[in-house]
Amino acid sequence: MSSLVYDVAIVGAGIVGSACADECARRGLRVVVVDRDTIGSGATAAGMGHIVVMDDSEAQFALTRYSQQLWQQLRPELPDDVEYDQCGTIWVAADEEEMAEVWRKHEYYRQRNVATEVLAEPALRNLEPNLRPGMAGGLLVSKDGVLYPPCAARFLIERAQQRGAKIQLGCSVTHMETGRIELTGGQEIRAEFLVNAAGAFAPDVLPGIEVKKRKGHLAITDRYPGFIRHQLVELGYLKSAHSVRSDSVAFNVQPRRTGQILIGSSRQYGAEHTEVDHEILARMLRRAQEYLPGLGPMSTVRTWTGFRAATPDKLPLIGPRPEDKSIFLATGHEGLGITTSLGTAKILVDQITGTKTEIPSEPYLPSRAAKEHVHA
Ligand SMILES: Cc1cc2nc3c(=O)[nH]c(=O)nc-3n(C[C@H](O)[C@H](O)[C@H](O)COP(=O)(O)OP(=O)(O)OC[C@H]3O[C@@H](n4cnc5c(N)ncnc54)[C@H](O)[C@@H]3O)c2cc1C
Repeated sequence: MSSLVYDVAIVGAGIVGSACADECARRGLRVVVVDRDTIGSGATAAGMGHIVVMDDSEAQFALTRYSQQLWQQLRPELPDDVEYDQCGTIWVAADEEEMAEVWRKHEYYRQRNVATEVLAEPALRNLEPNLRPGMAGGLLVSKDGVLYPPCAARFLIERAQQRGAKIQLGCSVTHMETGRIELTGGQEIRAEFLVNAAGAFAPDVLPGIEVKKRKGHLAITDRYPGFIRHQLVELGYLKSAHSVRSDSVAFNVQPRRTGQILIGSSRQYGAEHTEVDHEILARMLRRAQEYLPGLGPMSTVRTWTGFRAATPDKLPLIGPRPEDKSIFLATGHEGLGITTSLGTAKILVDQITGTKTEIPSEPYLPSRAAKEHVHA
């Protein structure tokens, strides 16, 4: 494809960079991945690993649905430690207003061939007896699943390596420009195409990218097998995810294969430190307990934070930069990057190789942000 050492150089070995490397290698491109840390150590290590179809916008639906199907296709190859489990999501409605949202969502998914089931209160109680009594009902999305993101990233990188991809860990990229990336210590790597997959830190490598850090907290309990069986999310979660306030919390819990319960989540803009904010954490745990009172006496064994990469229109940036068509972005996935990593990789490599994408890629092109600026 070129006389340079590599066809593609990717900055970042999170789930997105790993998926891109895997797809590049699968298509015969000579690819190198550089990360300042280890594989899957950024937001990928912090995330919940909920593989979820979402319906905030048609573009978000298309990417999450496409990606979820790709995860399902990959499932037979995933090693055990990726802990892929198609446990399904239940969107929990606390009152009749949220129940109306259940019906809206059900209809939206039905029209797009996503199987869902509306649960009245007795059916919800039967599936999740530890939810507080008096809920209005819920929506079961049975094809949603969960996985353990760092092991998924490692699997993708290892598969890429088996197909010839190179990986350089512990190397910080200081600069990217046409055809080359520069590492601390002055080393450089040359490639025809460059991909910035540095997550929330993408603007540090390429200033001007419209991505902001959105901090999140998680907590994990000791082992309580069978306490919950599905990923349980309050419908109010959508309000929280859309909130433009600096911070919000929502009930979002996940059963892990170990019997542990992963409790999320919070969203904060303007918080640059990785430390746990105990006030936010307490709010998040209180919210979880309101839905699952039995969580109260349980022990939490670990709490941590991570940074989502948020864009102004809540869609990721996938594609060439308007200023330089050889430099690609694969960032801005906010709270859906584990889910959408596989779809992102397909789209990105289709763009690089000039192949038609399976879903329209226009909504994710970085040039949309530039156009918004012109009209702002
Ligand atoms: C609390 C929380 C819960 C979440 N839950 C979910 C969920 O349930 N489902 C879901 O789909 N998504 C979820 N997400 C979102 C998901 O974790 C992210 O969207 C995803 O991990 C982003 O992956 P990434 O590869 O783009 O970024 P990252 O995983 O952050 O990877 C970026 C990599 O770039 C490297 N890097 C950065 N700067 C440099 C540099 N200068 N030089 C070299 N390397 C560099 C970093 O070391 C890192 O390894 C959640 C996120 C959070 C914070």
